[in-house]
Amino acid sequence: MFTVITPSTSVYGPVQSWRFGRSLGIDPIGPDSSCSFNCVYCQLGEIEHQSCNRQIFVPTQKIQQDLQSFPVCDVDTITLSGSGEPTLAQNLGEILVMAKQMTRKPVGVLTNGSLLGDRAVREELAIADWVAVKVDAISADTFRRINRPMPTINLQEIWAGLLQFRQLYSGHLAIQTMLLTEWNEQDRGEYIRRMQALRPDEIQLNTPTRPRPLTHQLAARGNHPPNACLYPTRQLKQVNAEVLQVFADRIESVIGIPVRYPLLK
Ligand code: SF4
Repeated sequence: MFTVITPSTSVYGPVQSWRFGRSLGIDPIGPDSSCSFNCVYCQLGEIEHQSCNRQIFVPTQKIQQDLQSFPVCDVDTITLSGSGEPTLAQNLGEILVMAKQMTRKPVGVLTNGSLLGDRAVREELAIADWVAVKVDAISADTFRRINRPMPTINLQEIWAGLLQFRQLYSGHLAIQTMLLTEWNEQDRGEYIRRMQALRPDEIQLNTPTRPRPLTHQLAARGNHPPNACLYPTRQLKQVNAEVLQVFADRIESVIGIPVRYPLLK
């Protein structure tokens, strides 16, 4: 059981993102990281509270107050993300409505999709102008190894929830896929078949570009340069630009969905 935590600020940024442009972040989770996954590449470091239970972490009123002190004229979008999985916030729908009314900017959510089996979560997420859902694995084995979900989470149930969400949702749906190693042919083929069935509006392929903090760092909600890291980190495996490009070209040519990926140095 958690207590309601009031962080110093639940709004951060703006941060520059190759995926979303200039984005102002809203953190509905608070200073302690909480997520249903504990991904090996998570920029928050080791997740402090692994949970699938929804609760109010940061009151909507507190987020509204914090938002008032951030000018939004030069931001492209507002992103709910922050210190964990935003759909764990029971006030997700309320926050989305408030942020849209206050800022008049597109408001989106980055989610790992683990709660999409819950109808209330799907309906609240549908308020967002855009939703980006993480799909890092095709096989249950890779899913457990990369995303390290809570034991009760089932990959097939996430997929079923994602398909249900797509039927309901008329906003912009992006799928985010992180590649730490090059996938085998079986996984690449199955991924394309699944995306054909889902029909997202875009796919974003990514690979880790920053070392991972070993412990939770609130500063990691934003984008800070690697040489600003004053805490212990671990280098992560990554694929090269050609692997991303070849996979992206294949997805686009087979199913015609735009695929974006970062320009790697
Ligand atoms: S789903 Fe996101 S917040 Fe949760 S552990 Fe993975 S990367 Fe971190």
